[in-house]
Amino acid sequence: TFNQTLDAIRVYEAGKPIELVVREFGIEPKDIIKLASNENPFGCSPKVQEAVSAIVSKMALYPDDSMYKLKDGLAKRFGIDPHEVVIGAGSDQVIEFAVHAKTGPGKKILINSITFAMYEIYAHHVGAEVIRTASRAHDLDEFYALYLEHKPSIIFLCTPNNPTGDSADAADVKAFLSKIDRETLVIVDGAYMEYARYKDSAKALEPKELIEAYDNVLYLGTFSKAYGLGGMRVGYGIAQRDIITALYKLRPPFNITTLSLEAASAALEDEAFVQRCIAKNFEEMDRYEAFAEAHGIRAIESYTNFVTLCLKEGTSSTEVADALLRQGMIVRNLAGYGLNAIRVTVGKPEENDRFFALAAELV
Ligand code: PMP
Repeated sequence: TFNQTLDAIRVYEAGKPIELVVREFGIEPKDIIKLASNENPFGCSPKVQEAVSAIVSKMALYPDDSMYKLKDGLAKRFGIDPHEVVIGAGSDQVIEFAVHAKTGPGKKILINSITFAMYEIYAHHVGAEVIRTASRAHDLDEFYALYLEHKPSIIFLCTPNNPTGDSADAADVKAFLSKIDRETLVIVDGAYMEYARYKDSAKALEPKELIEAYDNVLYLGTFSKAYGLGGMRVGYGIAQRDIITALYKLRPPFNITTLSLEAASAALEDEAFVQRCIAKNFEEMDRYEAFAEAHGIRAIESYTNFVTLCLKEGTSSTEVADALLRQGMIVRNLAGYGLNAIRVTVGKPEENDRFFALAAELV
């Protein structure tokens, strides 16, 4: 069924990307719009293309495994030391290192009831138990009660949170961190922090401040979202040196390609491009909010580049996502998370126009 094609395993079994699966339903490739993976619809800075082209001739050589240039760029950006940075093939890989380093059978991780799926997937790889909150929003009191009860090895705070888009207040997170013993690693996943920082400084958690104040915090960032480099697979972790050293023990050599390192370094140097994309994102986000209001549905307040639309009772998110898919519009159905909602990545204006036109008939 259409439904099943949305399932990652089914896509794997189909052996082709969702775009090609949709094509089999008679949709022309030019009519397929994918607003499903929270990529930057405007891509990356033109400076990235220049930098990548300039080093294509170096492909015979292994990458610089010290990753000096990118670490230095991040260190300058955040006002930290390069030794306080680890680079992963996506922040996914840093999550994997951390779960392997800190947990295993008999250990626990604590996560929000609805959050980024990879935390749980990696915990299962190593046989760790997953404890989750009952509440959907970042309820830090509940997190604390569960921390006291279970003494997890890792707590994941995903803020802004995927797939809901909402964000904890930075002051609340810091108050929470102050109560956690150093045996528990707290991973603050800031995959969407560039958006939150732009929209509301009260939501912004700065890695420098976090790692100076807490010796058990690992901050995660990525080049896959605001920096428009999803295809390059570059993410990073920032923490005090002993945490970074522990993660380094799990890092395979040359885990980041030369192209990816160069692309990320160049992207960091064009902050103006990123800020323009983010400004545009929130202009378009306003249109999603207006759309939701006009149709009597709820948009969860988002500090990211996606919006979660909670559908009315009697309207099924699975049916809406399927109907959109049949017309070449790929969004994320959140029914699997127990939410009657769809998550839509904010696209280019014309892509959003198309979403509004199609969705108006369905919601
Ligand atoms: N954390 C969150 C909250 C995410 O949404 C994602 C990507 N969807 C990641 C981490 C991983 O991103 P990447 O591996 O591309 O850096």
